[in-house]
Amino acid sequence: MQNFRPLLILLPVVLALLVLFSLIAPETPTTQPTEVAYTEFKRDLRDARIASVVVEGQKIEAQMHAPNEEPGATVTTYLPEFGDPELLPLLEAQDVRVEVREVVENGAAVWLVALLPWVIILGIWFLIWRRFAGGGAGGLGGRDIKDFLGGSATKETAGPIKVRFADVAGQENAKREVAELVEYLRQPQKYTALGAEVPHGVLLVGPPGTGKTLLARALAGEAGVPFFHISASEFIEVFVGVGASRVRKMFDEAKKRAPCIIFMDELDSVGRVRGTGFGGGHDEREQTLNQILAEMDGFSGHETVIVLAATNRPDVLDPALLRPGRFDRHVSLELPDRNARTQILRVHTRHVPVAEDVDLATVAAGTPGFSGADLKNLVNEAAMAAARTGEKAVAMRHFEQMRDRILLGTVRTLAIKPEERHRLAVHESGHTAVAYYLPESDPPYKVTIIPHGRALGGMQQLPEEERHTLTEAYLRDRLAVTLAGRAAEHLFLDSISSGAEDDIRVATQLARAMVGRWGMSEEIGPIDVRESDEHPFLGREIAQPRHFSEATAEAADTAVRKLLKEAECRATEVLKAHRGAFEKLVAELEAKETLERPRIKDCLDSGAATAGTEPAATACA
Ligand code: ADP
Ligand code: MG
Ligand code: ZN
Repeated sequence: MQNFRPLLILLPVVLALLVLFSLIAPETPTTQPTEVAYTEFKRDLRDARIASVVVEGQKIEAQMHAPNEEPGATVTTYLPEFGDPELLPLLEAQDVRVEVREVVENGAAVWLVALLPWVIILGIWFLIWRRFAGGGAGGLGGRDIKDFLGGSATKETAGPIKVRFADVAGQENAKREVAELVEYLRQPQKYTALGAEVPHGVLLVGPPGTGKTLLARALAGEAGVPFFHISASEFIEVFVGVGASRVRKMFDEAKKRAPCIIFMDELDSVGRVRGTGFGGGHDEREQTLNQILAEMDGFSGHETVIVLAATNRPDVLDPALLRPGRFDRHVSLELPDRNARTQILRVHTRHVPVAEDVDLATVAAGTPGFSGADLKNLVNEAAMAAARTGEKAVAMRHFEQMRDRILLGTVRTLAIKPEERHRLAVHESGHTAVAYYLPESDPPYKVTIIPHGRALGGMQQLPEEERHTLTEAYLRDRLAVTLAGRAAEHLFLDSISSGAEDDIRVATQLARAMVGRWGMSEEIGPIDVRESDEHPFLGREIAQPRHFSEATAEAADTAVRKLLKEAECRATEVLKAHRGAFEKLVAELEAKETLERPRIKDCLDSGAATAGTEPAATACA
């Protein structure tokens, strides 16, 4: 391909020139006619030296007699405007062949119109080829990746990348995982000698502004290898095939320059599930995606090329992208907790003079839900506010003013107000405490009040061992844990909120399965009363024809309600029994925002006289 490019670009030019030529000079004479004065022409005519003439408006082209049979020289001349009445009789007298041609009016305009399509075609060719080959004088030879990527952050054009891991605050897990790749890029032999294959595809996943792009650049900076960067806007072009060709070139170049890093930012823009777009299902985006898939499969396993991609929508990615051998390793970045926010603020105030009264930890405490990008923005806004009033340093009040402004102004950030935060802490602590105390349930592993995904907070449980069948006791506890957030709000805040919507949905689905599929209700017994083939954990529903009576359906509804009510009651009882420990957990969660197992255990073990004992079932029967 590389070697053909000059030919390809020359081809249309040559063609166009040929056509132009034939248009402009339809009958190119072998000898150029000489122009003579009209009197001279008339003398030749009188002297019978003219064989034939062609008249075209004022212009006369005369062919002379030649000594032999061959045609003689041609001359041209112009008839005077006022005409020459003698001319025609003279021509007849001399027996000269006269040919009169139609005059092409306004020649220039006609040529222009005729040329227009060619100009347009040529223009488009140039546009297309400039994208591939850079155009201009240098375009004929083809250009290499760094020019082709223009101003993008390739190592060569942007100079060595100065971002280091130290510039990425928090995100310890993500940094640790990415740091392993640095090792590999620096000393690939160490790994290949042992036959280890380091993953080619690493996907950075996380909400916007959490530092995915930053981390990718830090990786390149730390590893000190070439860094090829392509992002959303470059993937998808107006012309079909351009994005794909760009991807191919990038991978080709990267393989030559290994060890190196390819970074595809905002992968979701191109990596969405195929066959859902407009354009008949084979549009530019799909071609680009297919090319990426092909390139990722095309690694022989020995190239030290790491393909890094970032997205904040892993849910919409085409499953093919996530298959083994492609982006099979995921590194997730999360919104920063309080401690991480302090560190991020520290990073971004390194070069900002701050006043004595500024306490970054306090600023961090007041900015729950802010992403790294939001915090960077906050520092910048505060500095601008200070500059506006002519101050020498940024004071605490600047931070506060700007935080309030950002909180008011942004819909995008999932920033949480203090009242809301307290409710969230109570809700999540409810789940956590009940999961901790109920004997059959999976113990809590992590709890957070930092927004993630669509949820504002969350509690994660980790089963102590893998479960293959679910016992009734386990499922009842699970129901109680699911409804415990709501129970806690009710118990400690004396009101409930819309925050439990998802909990109620999940719990209802589970209770329906317990009654309708698993016969766990005494009233109904072991009868299949599924309304649909829903799976309580997958949430997929397939409608089924109903094969039971209205009465059974009603009884099932009652049984489901009873299970749910009982579960909520049990959750409430557990919380009542451990009020002291629970309140400690709420306070700790509000302060730290994310708690892991040891801290959870500390809080909940403290005031737990009745820990491990299930509250009297009679209270909820
Ligand atoms: P993403 O790619 O995840 O949307 P970016 O990497 O583009 O986010 O982040 C935007 C900016 O926010 C970064 O350039 C950086 O200045 C700041 N930022 C984000 N996360 C962090 C972090 N963990 N530490 C320091 N700065 C951060
Ligand atoms: Mg980004
Ligand atoms: Zn909940």
